Amino acid sequence: MTQSVCILGATGSIGQSTLKILEQHPEKYSVFAVTAQSRIQELSEICKQFRPRVVVVPENKVQELQQYLAKLQLDHIEILTGEDGLVSVAEHPEVDVVMAAIVGAAGLLPTLAAVKSGKRVLLANKEALVMSGDLMIQAAKDHQALLLPVDSEHNAIFQCLPQNYLQIERNGQPKLGVEKVLLTASGGPFLNHTLEQLENVTPAQAVKHPNWSMGQKISVDSATLMNKGLELIEACHLFSISEHFVTVVVHPQSIIHSMVQYVDGSTLAQMGNPDMCTPIAHALAWPERIQTHVPALDLFDVATLNFTQPDTTRFPALKLARQAMRAGGLAPSILNAANEVAVAAFLEQKIGFLHIAQVVEHTLNHVHNGVADSIDTILETDKLARQAASSRIHQLVS
Ligand code: NDP
Ligand code: MG
Repeated sequence: MTQSVCILGATGSIGQSTLKILEQHPEKYSVFAVTAQSRIQELSEICKQFRPRVVVVPENKVQELQQYLAKLQLDHIEILTGEDGLVSVAEHPEVDVVMAAIVGAAGLLPTLAAVKSGKRVLLANKEALVMSGDLMIQAAKDHQALLLPVDSEHNAIFQCLPQNYLQIERNGQPKLGVEKVLLTASGGPFLNHTLEQLENVTPAQAVKHPNWSMGQKISVDSATLMNKGLELIEACHLFSISEHFVTVVVHPQSIIHSMVQYVDGSTLAQMGNPDMCTPIAHALAWPERIQTHVPALDLFDVATLNFTQPDTTRFPALKLARQAMRAGGLAPSILNAANEVAVAAFLEQKIGFLHIAQVVEHTLNHVHNGVADSIDTILETDKLARQAASSRIHQLVS
């Protein structure tokens, strides 16, 4: 019997890498549902190759999709729309595995729906966990979902932790001899830029990551180090540790994907070429291992690995994320929403690169932080933070 897979965000960078692995293992996996937001032709190509039962697109893309599918004689594929459609494929009883690869807050409800229906959930959509934190972790526990990290750093940490670490009692303290987690960061394309140089970098420069090929939003997040900030929060929730047990280490080669330090002086690292197919395959098959096309690491070719401290003067986003995690409650949601709005404005060339962190800081200082006791509260705060960030951007540009 094959495992039935739903890919939320199939047309994106993670979605495509996931399909590459599924293609290699047709005896193990079949595609039940795929979703897209704007790349409808690409979605129809995916349908042609993988023959899903259901696809989900926004309401206003249905006609376009129908035309493509008709040409391919795939009119029998069921088309669902909008957030309800995403939720319904994520929780569909015939689905075993959900790849959560929608970017940003838009992925929260479908990811949570997958968790609440006890699926194996491959978590790429870090923003969903940053926003919902304990609520998502608790839901995974309550509904026996297997929430497995796809983010390369968290997948690396998961591989370096003792077995069953995720099942143990959670109280913010590392357990089973773990002392701390070392979260590696490439430092992004502007690692050695001065503040003056950072002021004038363009979106085109920001989305050109030296080691990884990724979607636009996460590429900008990598350039500001907000990605590492979001990952710091993600690590605290996934591994149930307070932020002071997570040290960020800049490692420009992206060969070590993260490390776990133990009380006996051991530090375990997971290494590999920077290709998301490795963590995706790991999360898909865990506790087994399956083949990917990623070439084995050639250490003679790598030769040197460097490690430095992050500079939070030039990259304040990392500091803001740590502060938000420390503040707790709704602060991570406020941080995330403001960042999404600011990154979009930067990509549209409305604001400069350094404005991104300024908008986030301003929003954190102006939106009320409270207890994140329900998804409704989180979504309401997300909305308020987006409004506050937008008006800050308006002030900055006028
Ligand atoms: P992409 O931008 O490449 O893909 C995003 C996917 O989400 C696309 O399929 C897109 O559809 C869909 N999408 C976008 N907006 C919406 C929306 N409002 N509603 C429904 N679907 C939507 O992003 P990535 O694949 O790079 O990243 C996906 C997630 O994985 C992010 O959370 C990112 O942080 C995380 N991640 C990514 C890594 C990477 O290497 N790329 C590494 C680690 C984590 P369409 O393309 O059709 O518009
Ligand atoms: Mg990562």
